[in-house]
Amino acid sequence: LTVKTGTVNVTLIPGDGIGPEIAQSVKEIFDVAKVPIKWEEVSVAPILVDGVSTIPADAISSIKKNTIALKGPLATPIGKGHVSLNLTLRRTFNLYANVRPCRSVEGYKTAYDNVDTVIIRENTEGEYSGIEHEVVDGVVQSIKLITHEASSRVARYAFEYARANNRLHVTAVHKAPIMKMSDGMFLRACRELAPEYPDVKYDEDLLDRVCLRIVQNPGPYADRVMVMPNVRRTLTGLGCVCVAARAGGGRGRGLADRVGSACAQLYGDILSDMCAGLIGGLGLTPSGNIGKDASIFEAVHGSAPDIAGKGMANPTALILSSAMMMRHMQMYDFADKIESATLRTIAEGNCTRDLRGKSSTQQFTQGIISKL
Ligand code: ATP
Ligand code: MG
Repeated sequence: LTVKTGTVNVTLIPGDGIGPEIAQSVKEIFDVAKVPIKWEEVSVAPILVDGVSTIPADAISSIKKNTIALKGPLATPIGKGHVSLNLTLRRTFNLYANVRPCRSVEGYKTAYDNVDTVIIRENTEGEYSGIEHEVVDGVVQSIKLITHEASSRVARYAFEYARANNRLHVTAVHKAPIMKMSDGMFLRACRELAPEYPDVKYDEDLLDRVCLRIVQNPGPYADRVMVMPNVRRTLTGLGCVCVAARAGGGRGRGLADRVGSACAQLYGDILSDMCAGLIGGLGLTPSGNIGKDASIFEAVHGSAPDIAGKGMANPTALILSSAMMMRHMQMYDFADKIESATLRTIAEGNCTRDLRGKSSTQQFTQGIISKL
C-alpha cells in the first residue's frame, strides 16, 4: 500500500465501553493532522440471523474491501448468547499474528525507563483449542491444539518482522519441558526457519524465566522479538463448549447460544500485561492483528466498563495502535508525528488518571492536538 495521492478508506469500529470515547479522540487527532484517511465507521454490535448472533454483514464487507481496520474494544458478555466477536473477526480474516509492542514512555516515571519489548503471538489456533469438557462430576479435561502450519506461519512472520524492524534477534517463548509435544512442535517450526534468516539471531527461553528476567532487567529484551504459540485457556467452561460445538457442526447451535467464550491467550497475555504494567498500564499498549486477508489494529485493553462514559479513558493505546496501522500503510511521517505529539503530551504531565494525571480524555486529546 503506498499512499501518495488521495485518501485511503479505513474501517473504524468504535467498539463497546470506552471504545467510542477513545475512537473519538483518534478521529479528532487524525482530522487536525490531516491524515489522508477516510474513516468508514461500522458497528459490529451483534445481530441475530436465524437465531444465531453474528457480526453485521456490512461490517465484514467493509473490512474485506478496505483490508485495514482500527478497532475499539469489544465486550464479550458471558452467557448472553453470542460467540466472541473478536474470535469471529480473527477467523474471518485469518488474523494469524498478534503483534504487541511495549515501550517505556519518556517522561512518565516507572521502575524502569528502558522497557522496549515486542511480543508476537500466534492468533488463530485458539478457536480450535481451549476445548474442555467435564469427564465426570468434578473432573474437567482441557485439550490444547496446535498445528505445525500455524506455528510455522507465525514464526516466519516473526523473522520477517525482526528484519523489517531491525530487531535482529528472535526468541521463541515456550513451556516445552512440560508441554513436550505441543510446544515442542512450535519450537521445531521456529528452528526449521531460523537457517533461512542467518542475519537474525535465534534462541529459545522459558515463559517463567522470561517473566523473571524482564522484571529484573528489561534492557536485554530491547533488541529482540519474542514469538510464542497461542495457548488458549478457556476461563468459562461454556466458552469451550461453543468452540467444540462449532467445530462439530450442527449440534453446536443450542450450545453456542449460551456461550461466553471468555478465553485468554495464555503466554502472550501474561507476558504482555506484565510488560504493560512495567510501563504504566493497559492505557498505553497498542497491538496489531496481522492477517492474510486484512489487518486490524486495536488497543490491548478491554472495554473498561468501570470507567465507560465518564470521560476518563486514556486514548493512548488506541492512538498508538493507529500509529502502528499508519506504519503498516507506509504513512511513516503521519505515524511519527502523531506518536511523538502523544508521548510528549504525557511527558508534560497532561495525562489521564490511570497515569496519575488529572486530565479528561478530552483535555488530553486537546494537548496532543495543540502539538500538531
Ligand atoms: P473487558 O471484559 O472488555 O476486557 P475489563 O473489565 O476486563 O473489560 P479492561 O478493559 O480489560 O476491563 O481493563 C482492566 C482495568 O484497566 C479496568 O479497571 C480499566 O478501568 C483499566 N483500563 C483499561 N483500559 C484503560 C484505558 N484506556 N484508560 C484507563 N483505564 C483503562
Ligand atoms: Mg479485560
